[in-house]
Amino acid sequence: MVTQCIRDHLSCIRNQIEKNEIEAPPAMDDLLIVLTGLLEKSDKNSLQPVINLTGTILHTNLGRAVLPQNAIDAMSLVAASSSNLEYDLHSANRGDRDSHIEALIIELTGAEAATLVNNNAAAVLLVLNTLAVGRQVPVSRGELVEIGGSFRIPDIIKKSGSHLVEVGTTNRTHLTDYKNAINSDTALIMKVHTSNYHIQGFTKSVSEEALAELAKVSQLPLVIDLGSGTLIDLRKYDLPYEPTVKESISKGADIVTFSGDKLLGGPQAGIIAGSRDLIQAIKNNPLKRALRVDKMTIAALTETLKLYRDPDGLKDKLPTLRYMTRDLGEIRKMADSLLAPMSRIFGETVTVSIKEVHSQIGSGSFPADLLPSVAIALKPAKLKLAKSGADDEKSSNKQLRELTDNFRNLPRPVIGRINNGELLLDLRSLDNADLILSQL
Ligand SMILES: *Cc1c(COP(=O)(O)O)cnc(C)c1O
Repeated sequence: MVTQCIRDHLSCIRNQIEKNEIEAPPAMDDLLIVLTGLLEKSDKNSLQPVINLTGTILHTNLGRAVLPQNAIDAMSLVAASSSNLEYDLHSANRGDRDSHIEALIIELTGAEAATLVNNNAAAVLLVLNTLAVGRQVPVSRGELVEIGGSFRIPDIIKKSGSHLVEVGTTNRTHLTDYKNAINSDTALIMKVHTSNYHIQGFTKSVSEEALAELAKVSQLPLVIDLGSGTLIDLRKYDLPYEPTVKESISKGADIVTFSGDKLLGGPQAGIIAGSRDLIQAIKNNPLKRALRVDKMTIAALTETLKLYRDPDGLKDKLPTLRYMTRDLGEIRKMADSLLAPMSRIFGETVTVSIKEVHSQIGSGSFPADLLPSVAIALKPAKLKLAKSGADDEKSSNKQLRELTDNFRNLPRPVIGRINNGELLLDLRSLDNADLILSQL
């Protein structure tokens, strides 16, 4: 690697000399500094921690939930040693990896049984492939959701080997629409939580209770894709209402699926909870093996779920909830503490100010609700050039882009968002302000 790096760099320098871009080779000491830098760069992992100041708490592109410390500890422990992942310590027989977490999911959701897969998309795929292959699945036209990054309900239904039957219209679906769609080929009734958008105006959708009743008389399972899925009523923390998994189960859902790394605040996982017979059939599907989770996920999710046994302590221990409920005064205080040092660092080149902004929860949770927050706003100072307005705007756009690039290229990249000619650093999810200052 060292040899190759030196060769590449020397050839680059020869090229520059040939083209008369430089006159002579750089001094040996300078060369060594550059080469050390290049080698360090090539040794750096592609996947690395970043500081998320985008204002989106659960940012899918930035890895969604930040894990609670007890989950991180549990992952390290199980990673550093052999474990009884699929080994029954009582009988010395082969065990089931779900057994370590199933009771906890049952306790928190009220379901009879549960299983775990790679993510919620895998959960939906596995449920449909188990219960509806070659048969029909009615879904309301108002619920044919696309989640970012190519997860679309119609496509996943198709890939599962079952057939989507669209019922109702985009804005209104009635119980009779489902009734009319049911025939001897129907495998189940599916409801999808429209987590990342709202339909407003002249609208109607069928409640979980009514669908459960229809499913029961039709002797069909009711499957609900809750998307985010929360285990507690978030109104307790002055957040908007989001249906809990327990509510869906108690209203009569036979299967619910939800993500581990959205509102739940844990590792990437898809949780499937529901009636014993159906869960057993799902576990028996050979695809389950292809979609199963590893020991670190089970360890992290177990610890995350255990925090839910103490809803009062949850706010302090679960980073996702801590960011969602963070006191505005605390965020403002952090902004105040950053303002003077940052102004000093940037001097005249960039105007630093404090701005009232709105954060969002993200990952399709509460799309219409925003949380008041505070950001550091950075605006490159206007160039004192007597040029036309268009050029002026072009150059200040360029400066803003450079500023954003520079933040993104820090050893611990800082990711903000651009708004109205400013780079906004929303401090809601910032844990350590010093980490920014020391890098600057
Ligand atoms: C997010 C979401 C999914 C996909 O979940 P992943 O855990 O990202 O795979 C599926 N359905 C709904 C309704 C969602 O909100």
